[in-house]
Amino acid sequence: MIQFSKVSELKLFLGQLSDHGGSVGFVPTMGALHQGHISLIKRARAENEVVVCSIFVNPIQFNNPDDLKKYPRTLDADLSLLESAGCDVVFVPDEDEMYPEAVTEKFNFGHLDKVMEGKFRPGHFDGVAVVVNRLFNMVAPTRAYFGLKDFQQVAIVKAMMKQTGSPVRLIACDIVREPDGLAMSSRNQRLSADARKKASFIYQQLTYGKSLVHTKSPAQITERVFERFQEHPEFELEYFEIVDSETLLPVTDFHRGTQAVACIAVWLDQVRLIDNLVYFE
Ligand code: AMP
Repeated sequence: MIQFSKVSELKLFLGQLSDHGGSVGFVPTMGALHQGHISLIKRARAENEVVVCSIFVNPIQFNNPDDLKKYPRTLDADLSLLESAGCDVVFVPDEDEMYPEAVTEKFNFGHLDKVMEGKFRPGHFDGVAVVVNRLFNMVAPTRAYFGLKDFQQVAIVKAMMKQTGSPVRLIACDIVREPDGLAMSSRNQRLSADARKKASFIYQQLTYGKSLVHTKSPAQITERVFERFQEHPEFELEYFEIVDSETLLPVTDFHRGTQAVACIAVWLDQVRLIDNLVYFE
């Protein structure tokens, strides 16, 4: 595995490879890698000649400075995980390399960045779109792999790609969970042992809501889930919404042809956790 920190060297290396016509699979990450990230690397490995992973904790997508400061950084462990998963190239730029000049890129996401994550994390998706667009221009991948754990992010990246006319193929990959159901996340490391034990409650509520799909409306399910969280004050439920996976707007009923996804964000032990589950399609 080769490591680059400079865009020019990365481009030179990948340029030589593309002269031979091989496909490039790209997995953008913020490091603190776990098996969720590794599942993307393995899928990219299976489908491409060359696998590139980037590790960059993108400051402009953090609306909360404390979250940025506390974001786990585990580069050595990340590199060995990537190496054993068969990654070929890891790109670890610093902030000056990613943002040598001011950010001027502008995207319009309509309501996609006003709901759920967008509502509670203003500016977050602008930061995501800018960094992904810059990384796509640097790596020029054939395929890019994103996890459905960040369900709304996939919708935003698709919209950004439409606006830029990107030729990259976006591959959305399933959520990898811990044995107790908690969605794997770099932020899970920040939970105390006690909070970590309790955290599976979030996925349990997602599955509880899903068990009601054939007897209750989306509004009734939402009410029930809110009630459950009220009984557990250690969790602060930021949102629980059942939305159309295309429009991200709340669904009023379940019907064939519309994929309904329940999305949730919860604070536990001063850590913000998100998850989602397909309810109906
Ligand atoms: P991050 O490092 O959090 O920016 O995540 C990098 C990529 O890994 C994103 O596309 C995430 O959606 C994906 N990812 C993170 N956690 C998981 C998970 N538990 N299962 C699948 N993909 C994930």
